[in-house]
Amino acid sequence: MGEIYGALEAGGTKMVCALGDENGRILEQTRIPTTTPEETMSAVLDFFRGRGIRALGIGCFGPVDVNRDSATWGRILDTPKLAWRDYDVAETAAQALGVPVGFDTDVNASLLGEVTYGDSKGLTDVVYYTIGTGIGAGILAGGQLLHGMLHPEAGHMLLTPAPGDTYPGKCPYHGHCFEGLASGPAIADRWGKPAEALKDKPEVWKMEAYYIARALTNTIMILSPQRIILGGGVMHQEQLFPMIRKRVRKNISGYLHTREMEDLDTYIVPASLHDDQGIMGAVRLAIDAASRGV
Ligand code: ADP
Ligand code: ZN
Repeated sequence: MGEIYGALEAGGTKMVCALGDENGRILEQTRIPTTTPEETMSAVLDFFRGRGIRALGIGCFGPVDVNRDSATWGRILDTPKLAWRDYDVAETAAQALGVPVGFDTDVNASLLGEVTYGDSKGLTDVVYYTIGTGIGAGILAGGQLLHGMLHPEAGHMLLTPAPGDTYPGKCPYHGHCFEGLASGPAIADRWGKPAEALKDKPEVWKMEAYYIARALTNTIMILSPQRIILGGGVMHQEQLFPMIRKRVRKNISGYLHTREMEDLDTYIVPASLHDDQGIMGAVRLAIDAASRGV
């Protein structure tokens, strides 16, 4: 029998805990609500204890310290969820379980799931955006997850307001950054109803596609990815995909001549792992931690 790996998708509202095999197959899974760190983590660790896991992979809501050489590696940084600020998720788990721990952002884990087990397997340069309560980006460049000085925060790129949009933006730091203008809460705030209740309002999705296409165009020009994957609650509005592709094509204005640009249907795509990309990516983080030995 093969090894068993532990996987944790740590989110602001829930923790998904799973056991997986080396093929990313999920063998068992449970959800625990996110309350205080002590209460939540003790339930999470109870799930993994005594299960013979070889290593644990964690994809965590952020901002987080993912730099292995840093004294605060594995901690949650200045999150608005005050109880979790400075909480040492990775070290707590490593000490309690005595196994190697892999730790990265939730979006990097989703990206890793897609390029390891999903339709983007084998690609080396991919960007994954989640458009939900917040907007986050995971970036794979030259086959490596990009961290840089902290980790990418592409959800906070500044965008100019769409023609006729007087909404000031919801981000407390930047107002009209990508997240401030296009996250689920920004849509709800601008239009007065939750995003999922606005399906029949074409003007909502026209504006949403406008912002997403601006952000993707910037992303394409900076990172030159082979593919962009879009996940998160807002992207359940599937009518957005063709609208976004059309606008991206217009924004690029014939400037790029690559095979990818010829077929935007396979270039700007939904996640392929049916909302399991995050937890499967956490399995991959565990496998990598096991092979590193820490
Ligand atoms: P989170 O970002 O909290 O992990 P989600 O990715 O599900 O979780 O994002 C939640 C956000 O997505 C909420 O703002 C919600 O209004 C929005 N959302 C969820 N489902 C839909 C949908 N079917 N259509 C549009 N917006 C949605
Ligand atoms: Zn912002």
